[in-house]
Amino acid sequence: MISIKNVNKSFGTHHVLTDISLEVPKSNVIALIGPSGAGKSTLIRTINALEPIDSGEIIVNGISIHDKKTNINKARTNIGFVFQSFNLYPFLSVLDNVTISPIKVKKQSKEQAEKRAVELLTSLGLGDKVHAFPGRLSGGQQQRVAIARALAMDPEVMLFDEPTSALDPEMVKEVLDAIRKLAHEGMTMVVVTHEMGFAKEICDEIVFMAEGKIVEVAPPSEFFSNPKTERAQNFLKAVL
Ligand code: ATP
Ligand code: MG
Repeated sequence: MISIKNVNKSFGTHHVLTDISLEVPKSNVIALIGPSGAGKSTLIRTINALEPIDSGEIIVNGISIHDKKTNINKARTNIGFVFQSFNLYPFLSVLDNVTISPIKVKKQSKEQAEKRAVELLTSLGLGDKVHAFPGRLSGGQQQRVAIARALAMDPEVMLFDEPTSALDPEMVKEVLDAIRKLAHEGMTMVVVTHEMGFAKEICDEIVFMAEGKIVEVAPPSEFFSNPKTERAQNFLKAVL
């Protein structure tokens, strides 16, 4: 589903991703964890080519994302991305935020897009916020709108970069619940997170990165109880 092969990337002389290889099978959920500056955001952004790579290959659903011949805008419609900051369009209603891409990019009719948007928003507990504007919503509600907006494109893969880091603690749960639900529905996901309990509970595999390298890959039961590398042991001591 997602196949990352020997990816390297530098910013100037700073080598931020070193020979990264990673497979994410269909319906698997991967947590990318590691210290600040490890390259987690850079890596997840390469998966939909928000960041170019210097070498290697990334294949998502059979499409080589960084191949010059690939229509990246088309490929991206299949890859939902949710950021730490929700990036909603402030002058559009919740409904219009969710329907704008299906209408403009996927050429859906307004009726069709709105029907699906209302379904998605309702399933995310936002059925009464359809006509609200983003500025009137809490951070947790805005982030759930951002998730609905990504899902409205019917992506086969969802990427999350610290989706709860900008939220007040009491709103973290509602957003994690939404992601948990997607996991149970079989969505293929990569989640950069500092929520270790969440990573332990829903992820199939923990990918621990430090200094631009993948240091350890293990199922959560193994990783959290018996991390093999000293780097991971020290990280867990600091965060748990
Ligand atoms: P955090 O947990 O703090 O979000 P991260 O693991 O996501 O960290 P990245 O944001 O991927 O780390 O950054 C990896 C390294 O690349 C850092 O040293 C960062 O300073 C550098 N970096 C990231 N983006 C750029 C950029 N656009 N230009 C130059 N350097 C960058
Ligand atoms: Mg980051």
